[in-house]
Amino acid sequence: MNDLQVSGVAKSYGPGTAVLDGLDLTVQGGHLAAVLGPSGCGKTTLLRVIAGFLRADQGTVTIAGRTLAGPGIHLPPERRRIGIVPQEGALFPHLSVARNVAFGLTRTERGARTKRVAEMLDLVGLSGYGNRMPFELSGGQQQRVALARALAPEPHLVLLDEPFSALDSGLRGTVRAEVRAVLQASGATAVLVTHDQQEALSTADAVAVLRDGRVAQCAAPEELYQRPADPWVASFVGDAVFLTGTAEKNTATTILGRIPLVAAPAGLREGLVLLRPEQLHLTDPTTATAEGTVTDVCFFGHDSMVTVTVDGLDQPIDIRAPGPLQVRPGGRIGIRVTGEATLHEVPA
Ligand code: ATP
Repeated sequence: MNDLQVSGVAKSYGPGTAVLDGLDLTVQGGHLAAVLGPSGCGKTTLLRVIAGFLRADQGTVTIAGRTLAGPGIHLPPERRRIGIVPQEGALFPHLSVARNVAFGLTRTERGARTKRVAEMLDLVGLSGYGNRMPFELSGGQQQRVALARALAPEPHLVLLDEPFSALDSGLRGTVRAEVRAVLQASGATAVLVTHDQQEALSTADAVAVLRDGRVAQCAAPEELYQRPADPWVASFVGDAVFLTGTAEKNTATTILGRIPLVAAPAGLREGLVLLRPEQLHLTDPTTATAEGTVTDVCFFGHDSMVTVTVDGLDQPIDIRAPGPLQVRPGGRIGIRVTGEATLHEVPA
């Protein structure tokens, strides 16, 4: 299988500016991994090191057991068997769709090339579009052609650099789902760079969160969201509610009552209990484990975020409740918690 293995990769652009600092990342063959992190954390640098456009200062990159970069080894990009889907303006504007897709097939004999282009256009749902020019396509169709072009030479790995950022939000979700389906159908191993948490969680098989030049956590989306490694990762991948709590066996005692723990560092007795806002529920005071006063209500259509000052707690907390609500700022409400929490050390 075409596993990608990045080990101990370091890269700086000058003295004292380490961007990647001994980064390790493994992507299982056939999987789509998202590399997620705040702006400037080194996502594009990592992609460029894997692609071969940048030489790492240290570390190795292997795909399918073949070393592409390492001590004394630096294969040029064209010998790495890596397909790239860039951000925007991805297609050659003066070439037809078919010639764009055929671009990386120069060594393929003509008949086989035509067949491969037709297969790729079929894969991305654009059969019959071969003679169109890029300007005759929608933004989403252009990205699908870019994907077809990247997949045509049967790469070991496909790198996607914020491929949906130029699309408007309505189209983004659809194109994302299409790209994911095409990658799955092709069986390609892929790395998607994004700073969009929702995109990473909804599209990838695994999400690697970058911080300070390293992978802070790499896990399946559900695991990352439900069992984040630390409070920073927890807040980075979604809305978080932190309460101080004391743990005994698998239960934490907090101001919102006793909450079962799904994960806690060994030996930790006191710390931050993490809940997601959708685990908190507005309820009748008779079934509530805490009470509070509503300070704000934000309506998002599918749900509302209610900010509440809980009796006895200094900081307000957020509760995500479905649909429109009857509650208003100033109103009194009861709160109940469902599900499990994680316990974390208080950051220094
Ligand atoms: P974004 O999400 O904003 O695209 P990123 O995570 O992709 O950011 P990189 O583009 O990898 O981040 O940049 C990481 C850091 O390296 C930034 O501080 C950036 O200013 C710096 N950097 C990037 N390219 C160069 C370069 N060619 N020379 C010097 N510094 C650079």
